[in-house]
Amino acid sequence: MENFRYIDDIATLSLDKKACIGCGMCATVCPHQIFEIQEKKANIMDFDACMECGACAQNCPTGAISVTPGVGCASYIIANWLYRLTKKKVNSVCC
Ligand code: SF4
Ligand code: SF4
Repeated sequence: MENFRYIDDIATLSLDKKACIGCGMCATVCPHQIFEIQEKKANIMDFDACMECGACAQNCPTGAISVTPGVGCASYIIANWLYRLTKKKVNSVCC
């Protein structure tokens, strides 16, 4: 999914490692392979590839993950279109 990236440094994804029990659900459900489990804890491996779909937070049994789903998918698609047309990075496509 190298070509399917969100805008850098703006994803709302956060992980509370203290609350993580290492069950691996986040790594299983994430469509962008953001998480890896290392030493029984989840790690965010590629923060900027998060498209804020919310699947990880919805499936985390301990509430260790926080993400604000919403404009992420649509914003990402629009930003990608604009990038392909202009070859310039778009910082925000929200209204
Ligand atoms: S789903 Fe939650 S508890 Fe399970 S590994 Fe991921 S962050 Fe940790
Ligand atoms: S919000 Fe979606 S894309 Fe982002 S880390 Fe969670 S499951 Fe992966």
